[in-house]
Amino acid sequence: MNKNIENKRPALIDPFGRRIEYLRLSVTDKCNLRCFYCMPDGFKDFEHKESWLTFDEIERVVKTFTELGVARVRLTGGEPLVRKNISKLAQRLTNLAGLDDLSLSTNAVLLDKQADELCHAGVSRINVSLDTLKPKRFKFITGGPLQPVIDGLMAAKEAGFSPIKINMVAMKGINDDEFEDMVEFCLQHDFTLRFIETMPMGSTSDEASKRYINLQSVKKRLAEHYDLIPGFMPSGGPARYVQIKNTRLRIGFITPISQHFCETCNRVRLSVDGTLYLCLGQEDKVELRPLLREGINDEELKTVIITAIEKKPEKHEFNNKHHQVVRLMSMTGG
Ligand code: SAM
Repeated sequence: MNKNIENKRPALIDPFGRRIEYLRLSVTDKCNLRCFYCMPDGFKDFEHKESWLTFDEIERVVKTFTELGVARVRLTGGEPLVRKNISKLAQRLTNLAGLDDLSLSTNAVLLDKQADELCHAGVSRINVSLDTLKPKRFKFITGGPLQPVIDGLMAAKEAGFSPIKINMVAMKGINDDEFEDMVEFCLQHDFTLRFIETMPMGSTSDEASKRYINLQSVKKRLAEHYDLIPGFMPSGGPARYVQIKNTRLRIGFITPISQHFCETCNRVRLSVDGTLYLCLGQEDKVELRPLLREGINDEELKTVIITAIEKKPEKHEFNNKHHQVVRLMSMTGG
């Protein structure tokens, strides 16, 4: 969906010379799963409905970002598919002249019923979180059943999404005997696989740290079983890719801890309550909701966003300020 207006766009450049061209948009902080490293069991501190940006407000903010050169948006959460009529929002966003790419991160529990309409609404790419293929283990990690996720993945494949990326958080003592199984599953279904290092976020920090695996060791281990060659993935984000020789399977490694990628960070995040977070691992933020509801005009909104980008921190400090980050991933928009 290249709308061919790239060279007319201004650019949002942060103080470190990084071009901000990607917005991760959380449409809800609620989730229908409770992954123990993401949202603690019994967690209730959700945003009230009055604080959620409405679809009109979201569209307005995204339109403003596109006018500032942001051409790619990802819907995320919480679990984005629990927000009602999400494909209607997707359609409104893909109708925006400046948006080239709308993607979605989901746990796929509700994807079975929604894959077709999301595809028709113009969502181009889907990432599905899946840490295990074992039903009992899935229940332990997430609190929910595995089968709806598998059904959702198959529906996405059927609907024609390509690529479909599986995001697997690698966890010591939890799923570290399953990396090869997941490779085989992705080979079988023509999915792309990405491993993710656990990050210390909010009250789940200790658990995440306890389970942490340096992904360099995972890559080494896979290299003992498979012939890995350097790989490339268009719009691959921060993942570093390899490919299994003579197959289409690309495997990405997202290593926020062992090898951070902040110097190439091109993104900011908007949470469901309209807070613009400038870094996943820092507190720097600007609250857009009050401004939107007080009647800020379009030019002023642009100025607020440009000024916010000037405050984007250089990097996260997960490694040296271990207990610094107070937000859960689901609050920011993962
Ligand atoms: N519900 C959607 C999903 O499952 O993809 C979108 C939101 S979820 C918060 C996004 C991703 O963040 C998931 O892949 C999840 O595994 C990951 N995540 C959450 N907390 C994390 C943590 N502490 N460390 C690493 N990854 C985490």
